[in-house]
Formats: sequence, structure tokens, C-alpha cells
Amino acid sequence: MDVLTDVEVEQLVERMCTRKRRYGRVVARQVAERMRGRGRRVSPYRCPCCAGWHVGHVPSIESVTRIAQLIRQRAYPPKEPT
Ligand SMILES: [Zn+2]
Repeated sequence: MDVLTDVEVEQLVERMCTRKRRYGRVVARQVAERMRGRGRRVSPYRCPCCAGWHVGHVPSIESVTRIAQLIRQRAYPPKEPT
């Protein structure tokens, strides 16, 4: 798997986390239900970036893969020369 660039990581995090409101699990479900009542196709989802919940389009499998990748990348940063 290719390594994400810093810009790609930032864009991903911004799209699925930073720009969204963060909720608790129960509230996220209520918000999603209310929005669906107005015809929006949204779902609550657990955010892999901040461990909170957001409401929006469920990230695609591809996004989830990339996000998992970015979290690994953050947990185990590529080795820097010492
Ligand atoms: Zn988040």
C-alpha cells in the first residue's frame, strides 16, 4: 500500500472529522434520524480520527482503508534518520 502524503492525510481528516460536528453516540443517531426525515441520506459513524461520532455520508470502503492507513501511519511514523 502506498503511503499517504501529509496533504492527503490533512484532506481526509478535514473531510471526515475537523469540518464536522462531534457528537456522542446517542445524539449522533438522533441527529441522523432527523436529517433522514428531511430526505438526507446520512448515517452516524464512528470517527477513526477523534473517536467521536459524526453524521454524514458513510465513508466508502476506500476511505475507511485510507483512514486506517493514516492512523497506523500516525501511530508508527515512518522512520526518520537519527
Ligand atoms: Zn472525528
